Amino acid sequence: MIMGHFDALHFVLSTRRCPVRRQGVCFWSPPVTTTDLPALFARIAPARLPELLAAMPKAELHIHIEGSLEPELIFALAQRNGVALPYASVAQLRSAYAFSNLQSFLDIYYAGASVLLHEQDFYDMARAYLARAASENVVHAEIFFDPQTHTARGVPIEVVIQGLHRACVDARAELGISAALILCFLRHLSEEDAFATLQQALPLRDKFIGVGLDSSELGHPPEKFARVFARCRELGLHLVAHAGEEGPPAYIWSALDVLHAERIDHGVQAQHDAALLERLARERTPLTVCPLSNLKLCVFASLAQHNLPQLLAAGLCVTVNSDDPAYFGGYINDNFTQLFAATGLGVPHAYMLARNSFEASFVDAGTKRAWQERLDAVFARFAQE
Ligand SMILES: [Zn+2]
Repeated sequence: MIMGHFDALHFVLSTRRCPVRRQGVCFWSPPVTTTDLPALFARIAPARLPELLAAMPKAELHIHIEGSLEPELIFALAQRNGVALPYASVAQLRSAYAFSNLQSFLDIYYAGASVLLHEQDFYDMARAYLARAASENVVHAEIFFDPQTHTARGVPIEVVIQGLHRACVDARAELGISAALILCFLRHLSEEDAFATLQQALPLRDKFIGVGLDSSELGHPPEKFARVFARCRELGLHLVAHAGEEGPPAYIWSALDVLHAERIDHGVQAQHDAALLERLARERTPLTVCPLSNLKLCVFASLAQHNLPQLLAAGLCVTVNSDDPAYFGGYINDNFTQLFAATGLGVPHAYMLARNSFEASFVDAGTKRAWQERLDAVFARFAQE
């Protein structure tokens, strides 16, 4: 055992404030040590970064399960359910994935979801994602789902949640990956519709851990959903919200102050507001950043121009995620490797981002510590090889 090195890896943690607070209680209290962490990182050759990024355990906190639906599965489900698609082949569907902004993506995304009708369909979709995630060393996933996309087509919410939940249970047993569900409200619909969705979901309250806010951001600020988020807060649900993907920093402020979001999904536009950056760093509010999504939806002109390195350097609890991997050209490890190749991030950043993903997750402190030890073990192994 090389415990000295393991302890070293905990050093960074000791300097940070707890980001995961529920009713004033800190659930994340890392051990305090003082060993030389940079020395350990220096022993890992930069050339091994792709291998390290793939091997390191990580949590994925920003994945829309409907966005993991691969064209092959869309066609298989369409055939199984007798649904006609406006595309002749898998190749033709894939070729339609040239997006100019968020809305152009959402139009195809909702068309793809139309093949999901039965509990088994939702199960198969989630199971396929979890198998892929486990193969990329994701040890935990907090999965978004959009019930309104399905209930609007006449699919009962029970069908959606039961299918997804069963996939999470089976994946844990068979693949060793843990997973939890976060119900997202579609922000282009009304708050009244969100309230109705919450009401429908409450009999299945034990099968999801929180609520989020997604879909078309511009013109639909967080405060539109103030009352339904207040109700979810009373119910003890975790709260997250997309903000500052295409929308202004003001949307991030209101996600924090009006919705009381514990995590900000995307949040990259925070770079335009120094006071906001300072607050996010001070409070360690996690940002779930999705580099390939930002590239595909033209939030940044190139990955080399992505601001994740600056956000990390500013002390924010940044994480890397895949968003809608079937549509944006890559799962979580593709996001890591392509971002690192384009921006020059190195071994210490890989460690920080994996560690942040555990810090930002909604699990208990003991579980976080166990994952942290697995992360430390992988870095220690790479440093020795
Ligand atoms: Zn998203």
